[in-house]
Amino acid sequence: MALRKIREIGEEVLTKRCKEVTKMNLRTKLLINDLFDTMYEATGVGLAAPQVGILKRIAVVDVGDGPIVLINPEIIERDGEQTGEEGCLSVPGKYGIVTRPNYVKVKTLTENMEEVVIEGEELLARALCHEIEHLDGKLYVELAEDGLHDVEDEKE
Ligand code: ZN
Repeated sequence: MALRKIREIGEEVLTKRCKEVTKMNLRTKLLINDLFDTMYEATGVGLAAPQVGILKRIAVVDVGDGPIVLINPEIIERDGEQTGEEGCLSVPGKYGIVTRPNYVKVKTLTENMEEVVIEGEELLARALCHEIEHLDGKLYVELAEDGLHDVEDEKE
């Protein structure tokens, strides 16, 4: 198990467009494993490569239904709308209210570089949109409708 340092808002690497992955190699496989380890350790539901300082179009997601690897993912269909709380491991201690599609269909490559289409609703749709935006250097804070709130405030 290898944990990587999670980059935080304000760091330039989080604002850059990531490069397409053209081939799978050991280095990339290790990165994917480390993304999962780092995400689970931080109890997140998704983590994208730029969040650990790597500008590749790779992200991982697990909303509780099992691990999903995203490589060069692309949203090809979206439907409906959901408005709810969203946070990010790169913006610790904060959350915002963000409106997302309630359903998305995503074309992606698997770890074996095979093209597959996955579908997600509700939290999974939200996580897929959030992670894919990281690959274009975007953070949810730009979409937060009422600014950012402290997670602590909510518990009071
Ligand atoms: Zn994030």
